[in-house]
Amino acid sequence: MEGMERGLKRLYLARPRGFCAGVVMAIQTVERWAEALKPQGELVVYHEIVHNRAVVERLRAKGVHFVEDLSEIDSLRREKPLAGTLVFSAHGHPPAVRRQAAEMGLNILDATCPLVTKVHIEARRYAQEGYWILLVGDSADHQEVKGTYGEAPERTILVAVHTHVGKDPRLADPHTVEVLDPERVVVLTQTTLSVEDTLKTIEILKARFPKLVVPRRKDLCYATQNRQEAVRRIAPHVDLFLVLTSPHSSNGMRLLELAQSLTGRAYRLESARDLQEEWLQGAESAGITSAASTPEDLVQELVELLRAKYPGLEVIEEGEEEDIAFREPRVLSPAEVLQG
Ligand code: SF4
Repeated sequence: MEGMERGLKRLYLARPRGFCAGVVMAIQTVERWAEALKPQGELVVYHEIVHNRAVVERLRAKGVHFVEDLSEIDSLRREKPLAGTLVFSAHGHPPAVRRQAAEMGLNILDATCPLVTKVHIEARRYAQEGYWILLVGDSADHQEVKGTYGEAPERTILVAVHTHVGKDPRLADPHTVEVLDPERVVVLTQTTLSVEDTLKTIEILKARFPKLVVPRRKDLCYATQNRQEAVRRIAPHVDLFLVLTSPHSSNGMRLLELAQSLTGRAYRLESARDLQEEWLQGAESAGITSAASTPEDLVQELVELLRAKYPGLEVIEEGEEEDIAFREPRVLSPAEVLQG
């Protein structure tokens, strides 16, 4: 890191940043039940509980297992005692996977963020009312998109955000997407997209389908909107942005794109170890933000590294804290899941 000793004078920390209420609830659920069920066996989580490697590794160290397919549970069972309880991640899941888990006799802890569940409920309702659903997302492989799509696959068409057309060929272009009945069509979205690009995409769809229904309560979540807004506020004051996010975090990657579009210099890190000295060359001020799944200690580690490199560095917290919390789920028996 030689050569970084002079230069940076001000460091702006975006507020809010990092953990949202959905992530806090999901991680607390896993921690609490991994401990409580220890006498019976180890806890299994379907998909990474949140998209952050450090979080997943810390939970693995506490004996938590992560599976991408329920068939992996049988082989795990042959190796060690399992608690017989499955946690569903914050991103949501297709209902078919939930049924399959109950049919396997597993108890369920559903840590899906309530703001994702809201979109699932909309998808079910509009499908029952005979609508065609245009689901705007950033990848057909994203767990949240798979989950919402799974509510009504026969009536849902995946659509790309207008700035991402062609990146995933399974997502239709909003300019050319077609539906069987253009009179009955609704748009739903992933919760973690770019605010600006999503509004523009909905505008494009509205021009194509004048009767398009846009649910009154927009699907983009408060955490996505607030973190993007905090980056916008800081951008005029900084030469560059450091964005702490996993490449799999949709909201984190949107923060990176936004910071890049506003400052022309945005860099992605998973931890302070990834910092490269040339990123800061010639810069007097930098901004830091982090994805909704990035733990705050990773941000503080980066701040400490920069403080050590630049004695006298002024650290400025900019923006408002959030005050939102979600209730943890209760354990559901297989019978409750199959009835519900
Ligand atoms: Fe929920 Fe938004 Fe956090 Fe995702 S980013 S877990 S939708 S609050």
